[in-house]
This record gives sequence, structure tokens and C-alpha cells, in this order.
Amino acid sequence: MTISATAVPILKDNYAWLLKDSETGATAIVDPADAKPIIAAIEAAGGRLDMILLTHHHADHTAGTDEVRAHFKCPVVGAAADAHRLPKLDIAVKEGDTVALGNAMGQVIDTPGHTRGQINFFFPEGPVLLSGDTLFSLGCGRLIEGTAGEMFDSLGKLAVLPPNTLVCCGHEYTESNARFALSVDPDNAALKARSAEAAAQRAAGKSTIPSVLSDELAANPFLRAKDVAALADVRGKKDRF
Ligand code: ZN
Ligand code: FE
Repeated sequence: MTISATAVPILKDNYAWLLKDSETGATAIVDPADAKPIIAAIEAAGGRLDMILLTHHHADHTAGTDEVRAHFKCPVVGAAADAHRLPKLDIAVKEGDTVALGNAMGQVIDTPGHTRGQINFFFPEGPVLLSGDTLFSLGCGRLIEGTAGEMFDSLGKLAVLPPNTLVCCGHEYTESNARFALSVDPDNAALKARSAEAAAQRAAGKSTIPSVLSDELAANPFLRAKDVAALADVRGKKDRF
């Protein structure tokens, strides 16, 4: 494993992610929405920042970007499709592009659905997925700008990543997602186990994230939806839950 991912809890229930290439010490921060705790976390980790990665334009993922960039003088990477509404990008990317973090290469995956220009980053050297507000543990992002069809295709791209991929998402939503998931899939043993695990993690004051992709494939009702209609149905139920 050459890429490590450490959660930086910010705002109410958001996670920024500190990525480090163990071979070179190169470091990136994903979705730095609150500059002060993020700068402190980076300083505590050695004070090096090579790159800022943005998954999407929402303020709870981007708000601290300019301050963090000014502090560490590093480039900001985000979706070309949303360059007009993201903080000023130094590197605009799209699906199929790669971003180098030291010796590790991150792959850009377009994952529209929650927002039109949402992107995820996948580092095979983890393997680590930065899933933003596309895939949560036991959930997925609300369809604010996109369609169920787009989200279905986006989740399908994530489902085929290596099963041991660590899913580093943008929010600590797992417990409330588990309550909903159990309402639609009450007999799923993997879901019951993951729900109990998350409850124990929260009771101990720990993060439930990252989760492991294989656990999500077994327990996440959005990832398990077999077609667009099934995903639209479960997303609608969650929105009314
Ligand atoms: Zn969002
Ligand atoms: Fe968010």
C-alpha cells in the first residue's frame, strides 16, 4: 500500500481526506471546505501539501480551497465540466485523466447524479476511492442535479473497482443510512452486520469511514439496485424516509 487516506472531520458531518504517498511523502487534501482545521491537520502531518482535489462544487466541499491554496501554494484539481462554479482550477480534469501524487496515479471517474460535474478519484495503489457525495457508506448522494439513470451508471463504475477498495466519502451519514437501508432490506445479514458495526464505531466516538467496497456491495441498497427503476425507487423512498 503506498497511498494512505486519513479523514479530517470538518463542519457538521463532513470529511476532508488527507492522502499521502508513502514512498515520496507527497500529500493531497480532498474537499478542504474549512481551512483552519485542514491547515492544522496538514501541518501536524509534516506541513507538506502538493495538491488539492475537489469532488464537486458544493460549499461543504470547497469553501476553504482558496485559503488552503494560498497557504501551501499548491495546484487545485477539479472537474473541467464545473470549472465555472468551482474555485479557480489550476488543473481541470475529466474521466480518463490521471493525477500524479508522488509515485501514485489517481484516476478521474465522472460520477454525475448528485451534481452534474461530480468526479471521483481512484488510487489503485491504496486501493482508495474518494467518492465525494456519490457513494456513501450504505447510501448515495441525493439527486440534486442529475437523474437516477446517471446515478445508476455512476455507481456501476464504482461497483467494478477492486472489492478491497477503501471508500472515502464526504459525510458521516452511515448510521442514518443504516436505519433507512434496514427498512428496505431487513433480512440482509451483511447489512445487519454493517449497521451493528457502525453503531459500535459511533458509540466509541469513532468514524465509520472509510468503509470497504465489498461491504458496500453486500449491504448498500443503492449499489445493490439492479436497474435504473430500482435505483429510482429506493432513492425516492430514502428522500421520503
Ligand atoms: Zn454535495
Ligand atoms: Fe456534501
